[in-house]
Amino acid sequence: MKKSVLVVGAGPVGLTMAAELARFKIPLRIIDKALARTDKSKALAVWARTLELLDRAGCADAFVATGLKAETVSISRGDELIARVSLTSVDSPFNYLLLIPQSESERLLEAHLQSLGGKVERGVELTGFSDLGTSVSCSLRHADGSAESFEADWLIGCDGAHSLVRGRLGLPFEGDTLATHFILADVHVAGLNFPGNELVMFWHADGAVVFFPIAPGRYRIIADIGNSPQHDPDLEEVRRIVNGRCPPGITLSNPIWLAGFGINERKVENYRSGRIFLAGDAAHIHSPAGGQGMNTGMQDAINLAWKLALVEHGDAKPALLDSYSDERSEVAKQILSDSGRMTRVAMVENHFMQNLRNFVAHRLLGFSGVQHAMADRLSEITIGYPHSQLNTGSSKNLKGPKPGERMLAEKPFGAGNTPRFALIAADSAEAQTMLQRHARLLEPALRPAEAPGIWLVRPDGYVAARAGADDWPIIEGCLTKIDLAPVS
Ligand SMILES: Cc1cc2nc3c(=O)[nH]c(=O)nc-3n(C[C@H](O)[C@H](O)[C@H](O)COP(=O)(O)OP(=O)(O)OC[C@H]3O[C@@H](n4cnc5c(N)ncnc54)[C@H](O)[C@@H]3O)c2cc1C
Repeated sequence: MKKSVLVVGAGPVGLTMAAELARFKIPLRIIDKALARTDKSKALAVWARTLELLDRAGCADAFVATGLKAETVSISRGDELIARVSLTSVDSPFNYLLLIPQSESERLLEAHLQSLGGKVERGVELTGFSDLGTSVSCSLRHADGSAESFEADWLIGCDGAHSLVRGRLGLPFEGDTLATHFILADVHVAGLNFPGNELVMFWHADGAVVFFPIAPGRYRIIADIGNSPQHDPDLEEVRRIVNGRCPPGITLSNPIWLAGFGINERKVENYRSGRIFLAGDAAHIHSPAGGQGMNTGMQDAINLAWKLALVEHGDAKPALLDSYSDERSEVAKQILSDSGRMTRVAMVENHFMQNLRNFVAHRLLGFSGVQHAMADRLSEITIGYPHSQLNTGSSKNLKGPKPGERMLAEKPFGAGNTPRFALIAADSAEAQTMLQRHARLLEPALRPAEAPGIWLVRPDGYVAARAGADDWPIIEGCLTKIDLAPVS
């Protein structure tokens, strides 16, 4: 049996990948060696940009209906509020942080995949593979011990931090392991004097404690424990830390999950090797500060899926696939640096530096401009591909998003079952010629321009080209780079 794509791993990234490919009618298999979905709440944060991208696929509503909307992040020292950052300023239909246990995110993604005809094969492990140049020969082991050979056109390793795919490709996973360890507790909390939809962080001389709301009265607590050996805490230890670092009166009960973890900050340089791709934790891992890991991985999957679909359908040149690693590796570098900085700021040990940090944070985050910039960055709406090889033109005099920047529209870009670029321009003979010439890449109709100029927008909502109202050669140049078979 031969199918186009083998997705290895049914975590949030593999499920997003499979669902996007299924939406674009690409035959696929998705396997996971685990017999069941995770029941752990692991990644809680789903940020605005991820929800916008899921919205194109029609599955953001289910997430929003299931999660808890946090609209504010506060930082305190004891009873003294250092800063409060509102997320409502974020220019997105999803101007909040959605908190939803990873187990629920995976359930929703799997249901979405099923609605598109896909099915996770559980208890099936990838044990080896070989890139034959025109296909990938994969060795699978089933839960009953039986072996299977499977030939795929493409192999996508969404197999997590300990990725077999990455390991067998011999790709270095470069970076550091932090010396500090952390504890995590999903517990019921009473006496926390903050609104139930606020993410609450306490900075203390001994370390930081963060409360993420999960459901009314239920929180995820994360705290650093310095150089103490990594271990799973008991409830007593979590209580001691909370009592020592937070205002009095907070009580914890009914633990659901208690765990210890360390932090690695690593990534591979190249997400692609021939017919094999990496996405998600298989390609990059970072501190949970800022809650960006799963979001970044899901956005990897979304970036790759439309490109692979266009190439597999014979609409785009195979070189389009090279932009995946370039674009997403750049994003991961940024996320690694941001989340690393946030972790180190929260963990500053020197007393003088702690006071300085608190003072600077208080003053800086008192400015609404700084608050908005921080909220925009956290929600990942500022992510873009300014250096993408796909970008063309720029027309500095034009207002509106530049090549590589995200564009929002009432009718989302990239919805439906065929990934298509959108052409935003006033109607003209040249515009109609462009629609006909690149019919396999473009949405069939123009979208009206709100300002003078022409925009070519990718199926993931990022601008590929921007040109003055008559500058059609720029648009043609961009489409020619991608289009496999323009109509002459
Ligand atoms: C405590 C904790 C808190 C976190 N908090 C956040 C947060 O708030 N926000 C955020 O964005 N991120 C957070 N993260 C990170 C987040 O959980 C990961 O980024 C996310 O799970 C990565 O998803 P993934 O699909 O790439 O990998 P995984 O979720 O690890 O899934 C990989 C899957 O591949 C399967 N697999 C592995 N090898 C094979 C094989 N050879 N054959 C078949 N199947 C295989 C595994 O069984 C697994 O199901 C947190 C992580 C932890 C541990």
